[in-house]
Amino acid sequence: MASLSPLINELVQALTILPGVGPKSAQRLALYLLEKDKAGAASLVATLSEALDKVGHCQQCRNLTETEFCPVCDDAKRNDDQLCVVETPAEVLAIEQTGFKGRYFVLFGRLSPIEGIGPDALGLDKLKSWVLEKNVQEIILATNPTVEGEATAQYIQQMFAGKNVDVSRIAHGVPLGGELEYVDGGTLAHALAGRKSVY
Ligand code: ZN
Repeated sequence: MASLSPLINELVQALTILPGVGPKSAQRLALYLLEKDKAGAASLVATLSEALDKVGHCQQCRNLTETEFCPVCDDAKRNDDQLCVVETPAEVLAIEQTGFKGRYFVLFGRLSPIEGIGPDALGLDKLKSWVLEKNVQEIILATNPTVEGEATAQYIQQMFAGKNVDVSRIAHGVPLGGELEYVDGGTLAHALAGRKSVY
């Protein structure tokens, strides 16, 4: 984009790191911030900078927070018996929408030998000591239905084999209101494998 000055060009390039933002959108955003909302842009920069500086991981569930323990871990009203294991912080938010009142453990990834991601990187030792020390009754494995997500779920399941804790896997299946004809084969196979008795 030779028509833009070097600094504006740099800003456009920087904005393309955002998911879903291509060069055209980045250009529009950069011009908007510089032209229409300088105060908003300054506030965005300040907040982002502070968040980058202060946000780390919760000491218990590993979710992102700027305090030692995140709001969920700090909430005494949550059910200590149920622990839901997810891959990302965004999935915590998705499961919160369902009204789930247990606790979470965030892996920040999934086992992937090819990418060199092993149990250590996912904090599985921490998960194990939490479950055993706090006497958690049920672990709900809500990793994604991908090859790595399944392998991760299986690994965790085996980790607690023979221990006094129920391990369940969320059912991935047919979307509500969906018609079987339009559901892809993988999803349908999963739905079949996760079937429950109706009696
Ligand atoms: Zn936490």
